[in-house]
Amino acid sequence: MLETDWRGRAATLRPETGLFIDGRFSDALDGRTFDTTTPRDGSVLARVAAGAAADVDRAVRSARAAFEDGRWRDQSPRERKRVLLRFADLVLAHQEELALLESMDVGKPIGESLRVDVPGAANCLQWYAEAIDKRYDQIAPTGRDALALVTREPLGVIGAVVPWNYPLIITCWKIAPALAAGNSVVLKPAEQSPLSALLLARLGSEAGLPDGVLNVVTGYGETAGAALGLHPEVDKITFTGSTEVGRHFLRYAADSNAKAVSVEAGGKSPQLVLADVGDLEACASAVAWGIFYNAGQTCNAGSRLLVDAAVKDDLLAAVIKAAADFTVGDPLDQTTVMGPIVDQTQLDRVLSYLDIAREEGAEVAFGGGRPHPDSGGSYLQPTVLDAVRNDMRVAREEIFGPVLSTITFQGEEEGLRLANDSPYGLAASVWTRDLATAHRVAGRLRAGTVWVNTFDASDVTTPFGGFKDSGHGRDRSLHALDGYTALKTTWINLA
Ligand code: NAD
Repeated sequence: MLETDWRGRAATLRPETGLFIDGRFSDALDGRTFDTTTPRDGSVLARVAAGAAADVDRAVRSARAAFEDGRWRDQSPRERKRVLLRFADLVLAHQEELALLESMDVGKPIGESLRVDVPGAANCLQWYAEAIDKRYDQIAPTGRDALALVTREPLGVIGAVVPWNYPLIITCWKIAPALAAGNSVVLKPAEQSPLSALLLARLGSEAGLPDGVLNVVTGYGETAGAALGLHPEVDKITFTGSTEVGRHFLRYAADSNAKAVSVEAGGKSPQLVLADVGDLEACASAVAWGIFYNAGQTCNAGSRLLVDAAVKDDLLAAVIKAAADFTVGDPLDQTTVMGPIVDQTQLDRVLSYLDIAREEGAEVAFGGGRPHPDSGGSYLQPTVLDAVRNDMRVAREEIFGPVLSTITFQGEEEGLRLANDSPYGLAASVWTRDLATAHRVAGRLRAGTVWVNTFDASDVTTPFGGFKDSGHGRDRSLHALDGYTALKTTWINLA
């Protein structure tokens, strides 16, 4: 089979750059734009419309009108299913274009975008499409004198605000259940990664979503994001991003119409390796993938390696060996395992944490260097820190880059205590050969997802979200679908 010439195709890429409101692309009302760059080499990829409050208002009005006249929510579940399945088919038909946009915009290796991100997005659309005509409502046990129906109704206008690390997948985690349930959506992608969302909007429209049902306002968080959070006609904000911005959205809601807000935020997930770990090589490989996948820019990245002193030296040596296999390079090169950090600002932030680590007394056991210095791109080696204490900043704060902090403990109790001693609670893993230990420890780990003898396994069928500062929302599964509906009681007097 001929290999795709991704660099050649990148040179001819002509992404959509306008706001998508009421079924068509348009400039921002004030004509402003912003540049989205590629971390491959720092060059400008596209000049995109910078939506402001007036544009958000246009989009919300369009979404509201679409909701109120029932052009989408009043379609039968089966018809909504058909449209969303067509949407998923179109995503797959455009997989190469979507993968290229994603890899160019955020630096994911092209093979990963093709294997994981685009199929994951399509699968999510399919799954919620298939779910929506198989759910039944309820009749309450009120007795013979009344018939009380307990039904679920769409909420109305959903504002979806997403980050840049998995633009396609996280967008679909939000829009698929929201649309399946019959809501209208205004999506605000991150300013670092607006391009795949705009193509997605076009494909949704081609699939048959009526005008106004899915709108996309690109722009900055402080302007477009805040305007959406404060808009009185938005019924719910579904947010994924940092804890700090999640708090902003809770405030926006309190300061406007007390809209519902779900927050999916960051993490500092522990990979807890007990003394009776089974296959050390398999564990080391999972630990490395758990932190270096997507260059560590994953909310549930296993950024704290908590390892029992009894196996620490052997495990660390194996993790370093695994880290050395993460070839860092151009995301359009098929041999690249780890692409660049999303942009120079984020790279500088990650590098500043390496300085902090050294000042705090941690050791750089592997990596820390900057490959391809003349490329103009924001590349960093996979990096392993040793001699980290759990009270150091590199153990408590989310670095959001390919940096693993290794912390040693003695015995299960201390390991568990350190694992839970974090402001975050998004995910955790435990490695042990003993089933009873696995079950006991998993039960005591304060995290929304706990993996046993693996890391980062996931499926659209399982809920995803966190405890503590990692937020309270849940994406994926039927539980997420419930989050885009309101319960209604209809009491019919039969007496
Ligand atoms: P971020 O919080 O800076 O931005 C997220 C979104 O909020 C963007 O669209 C941004 O434009 C918008 N925004 C920023 N400031 C705003 C403001 N003042 N008002 C309104 N909107 C604003 O996050 P990021 O840097 O894009 O993404 C990285 C973060 O996302 C990390 O903390 C990561 O852990 C988290 N994340 C969480 C999950 C999860 O499911 N829990 C998944 C992926 C990423």
